[in-house]
Amino acid sequence: MNAPLNRVAMLDAEDPLRHFRDEFALREGLIYLDGNSLGALPKRAIEQMKHSVSEEWGEGLITSWIGADWVNAPTRIGDKIAKIIGAQPGEVIAGESTSINIFKALTAAHYLQQGRRVLLSETTNFPTDNYIMQGLERFSGGEIETREVDPDAVLDALDEDVSVLLLTQVHYKTAALRDMKAVTQKAHDAGVLVVWDLSHSTGAIPVDLNAAEADFAIGCGYKFLNGGPGAPAFLFAAKRHHHAQPVLSGWFGHARPFDFEIKFDPAPGIDRFQCGTPPVLGMSALESGVDLMLEADMTDIRAKSIGLSELFIELVEERCGEFGFELICPRNSSERGSHVAFAHPNAYEMIQALKARDVIGDFRAPDVMRFGITPLYLSYAEIEEAVERLRSICINREWDKPEYRERAAVT
Ligand SMILES: *Cc1c(COP(=O)(O)O)cnc(C)c1O
Repeated sequence: MNAPLNRVAMLDAEDPLRHFRDEFALREGLIYLDGNSLGALPKRAIEQMKHSVSEEWGEGLITSWIGADWVNAPTRIGDKIAKIIGAQPGEVIAGESTSINIFKALTAAHYLQQGRRVLLSETTNFPTDNYIMQGLERFSGGEIETREVDPDAVLDALDEDVSVLLLTQVHYKTAALRDMKAVTQKAHDAGVLVVWDLSHSTGAIPVDLNAAEADFAIGCGYKFLNGGPGAPAFLFAAKRHHHAQPVLSGWFGHARPFDFEIKFDPAPGIDRFQCGTPPVLGMSALESGVDLMLEADMTDIRAKSIGLSELFIELVEERCGEFGFELICPRNSSERGSHVAFAHPNAYEMIQALKARDVIGDFRAPDVMRFGITPLYLSYAEIEEAVERLRSICINREWDKPEYRERAAVT
């Protein structure tokens, strides 16, 4: 046994989150470093889904809207997510996809502003965020203009034309972490409202929306919240903005949906940001993931995320140093979210070769290898083992195969 191995074993023995691993249905031997893209399956979700399908749907049928409280799932789960992101009860609603919620938050924020026509974001954002802005510009027939600037130039671009700034707190490729409070303050000083994209923050790092005086935020259910593939997302609107007019004004956002009035009258609170019938089965799986997350202490999650990430970076540089990996996430842990990213000219092939060796990470064009660090189900020993497998792949050039060069539809 060499010294680093002893250190790793000790880190696992002292890990306050180690019992959470048992809560997940993960195959023995698989090292899953992609929980930032699709979280693992909580065992309790299997039971909960069986119950939701057989009992609630099968037996209860339509009576389950009240009997199983389906009707309140969006606010009930929203209130639970609120605890994870530093919001108050009644400020978060679960439902729809992240992209749809970006639309809802952007439009709500934009129409709170007077005489400002620019939606601002940065050029390296996760593209769906920008696509939604661009769609709004087209749809507005010239009323709305999108402005996309260099990531470092965002604060300088806040001027009297900007109505809303759309920013992602943890960058999807580089994991670079923005200072939510400082940015929000700067934006407010310039009269700009901010929509925060928390896709890579929720359940991954401590988030305190209220302390940052955030306006609106949205985030994903299927990443660190382990809500299942295509899980409903969520929207946060600060209480002071609850008079904002919803643009996707569907009947579930009406003050009295079952009065079937023909004129839209928005619900008084966060409910106005609902649109249509919630996807109940998806909600059910999401709730299992959120409940599990709530059992863990976010301070422990952050501390372990940093510990695992630092170990990963250290071991890749030490044991794979000669193979040309370039660290592209911040080295300083206080500036990094919960994934680690390296650039490599053969990133795509290497990710495929790693999969063949039961290590799942992902590739992001053009040359990024991304490794999600999920403290609830990863151990320090797995981090070391993943680096060992990466090292073998490099030494034996296992990645250098024609079939690994064929790009799949989903990376
Ligand atoms: C994952 C992610 C999304 C995903 O949007 P969907 O509508 O769920 O496909 C959006 N924005 C960011 C920053 C993301 O990381």
